[in-house]
Amino acid sequence: MLKIECLVTGDLEENCYIIHNNKYALIIDPGDEGKRIIDKIEKLKLEVLGILITHYHFDHIGALDEVKNKYKSAKTYDYKSSIDNEIDCFKFKKINNFGHTMDSCSFLFEKENIMFTGDFVFLETIGNYDDENEIIMFNSLKEFVKLNDDIKIYPGHGPSSSVGYEKRNNYFLRGI
Ligand SMILES: [Zn+2]
Repeated sequence: MLKIECLVTGDLEENCYIIHNNKYALIIDPGDEGKRIIDKIEKLKLEVLGILITHYHFDHIGALDEVKNKYKSAKTYDYKSSIDNEIDCFKFKKINNFGHTMDSCSFLFEKENIMFTGDFVFLETIGNYDDENEIIMFNSLKEFVKLNDDIKIYPGHGPSSSVGYEKRNNYFLRGI
């Protein structure tokens, strides 16, 4: 059973997630306040195996260098990574969902039924995008609604939700 810790970091209140099994951990979007993130990991006595980046906006990677420097053996995963990834107990799919940025991706942990969506889909809203990327965003959302309703989503800002809840309540997913 994986545990999920959420640290809200920086002025833009970005959700940095630490997921772990009490021994090994992955860090998702170390946005800011590197010392706080590292302190939390040290307190939990975790070994960091990977760092997952949903996209490269500054509020998601502000502490990336600091964290990488501390956990030198941890591998970084982002939109360029393989679709299927496995590191020790962590098995996850990388799903590109360009639109908010052209380097946006989500990380889906199928066994645990959880997905980290960055600034792609939030509780009852979606990430902003430039007009010229509207069709790209729309296509990404079309893929999102094909996912199982019971997948819990953990966005880059704000509270968690689920695919099913968003299909029913997210204005931007209506008619898709
Ligand atoms: Zn962003």
